[in-house]
Amino acid sequence: MKESFKRIVVKVGSQLLAGENGLNKNFIDKIAYELSALKSQGKEVVLVSSGAVLGGIKLLSFKRKPKSIQEKQALSAIGQPYLMTEYTKAFAKHGEKIAQILLTAEDLRSKERFTHAKNTFNSLFKLNVIPIVNENDTVSVEEIKIGDNDNLAAHVSVVVEADLLIMLTTTDGIFDKDPNIFKDAKKVEVVSDINQLQLTCNFDGKSSFGTGGMWTKVEAAFKAARKGIPVIIANGKEEEIILNILNERNKGTLFLPKKELRAKSYRILYIEEPKGYILIDKGAEDAVLNKGKSLLPKGIKEIRGEFKKGDTVAVLSENGKILLKGIIRCNSNDINSFNKECIHRNDMVFID
Ligand code: GLU
Repeated sequence: MKESFKRIVVKVGSQLLAGENGLNKNFIDKIAYELSALKSQGKEVVLVSSGAVLGGIKLLSFKRKPKSIQEKQALSAIGQPYLMTEYTKAFAKHGEKIAQILLTAEDLRSKERFTHAKNTFNSLFKLNVIPIVNENDTVSVEEIKIGDNDNLAAHVSVVVEADLLIMLTTTDGIFDKDPNIFKDAKKVEVVSDINQLQLTCNFDGKSSFGTGGMWTKVEAAFKAARKGIPVIIANGKEEEIILNILNERNKGTLFLPKKELRAKSYRILYIEEPKGYILIDKGAEDAVLNKGKSLLPKGIKEIRGEFKKGDTVAVLSENGKILLKGIIRCNSNDINSFNKECIHRNDMVFID
């Protein structure tokens, strides 16, 4: 691992932030202390924090989980300023100022808004202020939702071009079995291949370990790692965990960075939603997959959905398997009369 990480994104989830009668102030203090310490070492830090909905639930003494999307959105609107007030107080103890950034998937999909967000982060670094990011839950409905803060953290790391992403959770890292149930569960030290990890670990049991929580984290970590950002999943309950990670004390599970994806490929694969689906025949599949060719209209058997030039589409094999995502060079209604490559080789990202 690189010795000196300059720009670091830290993600904390609701489980760590939940206190008995509200937000866990001790945990918020701990995070503020650790991130302030990093800042005083000359590092630039970003915090991705959940806790808005949770904060709303606690403030209103809600006895049940919010049912509808609207109820959750209202609770996040109530809880977000509460959360930020607690962070403001905690960071002020160390003389640090914070800023709030709320994002939706729309903000990342739009190239302009992505650039604006990136510029704002850069200005905040220059102003010596710590950005605290959450999803803009009050306006996030299905189509524009990132959905979870693990993926949000991965995307934010890409936006700010982070040198390291630390995802804090309630276990010491990724285990081959649920460590809360199995005494012989072994920690995975290093991950370089997500398929390999899936074979070694039991992610689909009935426990909380398998119900999406840990797997979502693994997938999100892998996304950032494929963009060349090392990711560490570690235990947020441990004292000075962030400082220890940076002092090279082997902590948590490390996802090795790979230089697999360019910015454009990351966007196509993980940020853009396909506007349409294109089914191709065996010949085209072979040409694209094995012969390094672009996709020509003659190999297309069927299209679904409406798309325009520049949209992202998914390409499927005859038996319905998603082969790749790519940027289309024509509109869905004139694809038959188009006589050039409709998805250029350079605009394709293959799905493993
Ligand atoms: N944005 C949500 C909140 O602040 C949390 C989402 C998540 O933890 O994945 O309440």
